[in-house]
Amino acid sequence: MKRRDFLAFCLACASAGALFPARPAQAMSFDKEQRCCATCHYWTGTRKAFSQERVTAEVNERARCTNPDSNYRNLFVNTLHVCDKYWRWDQLNQSPVFRPS
Ligand code: SF4
Repeated sequence: MKRRDFLAFCLACASAGALFPARPAQAMSFDKEQRCCATCHYWTGTRKAFSQERVTAEVNERARCTNPDSNYRNLFVNTLHVCDKYWRWDQLNQSPVFRPS
């Protein structure tokens, strides 16, 4: 096999995902009390709130921080990242939940 053919073969395998298969996305659930970018108001990643108590997001999702006061403003941050300018997402309940006994 010539070098050109070998490189074409490798390129074809890579584009087909044979050499570096894509990892399946893993969703993770975060409690509203958990301080991380996934529960922060300024995180722009894809996520969903449930009952104003929990958030689900992809574990490895990276999204832009839009907090003008944060050192990470306009940078892409991970779901598990956090900074001292954290502000809870307004889709989550801001006050403690009343649970009758
Ligand atoms: S870096 Fe800080 S301000 Fe930005 S999304 Fe994460 S916790 Fe929120």
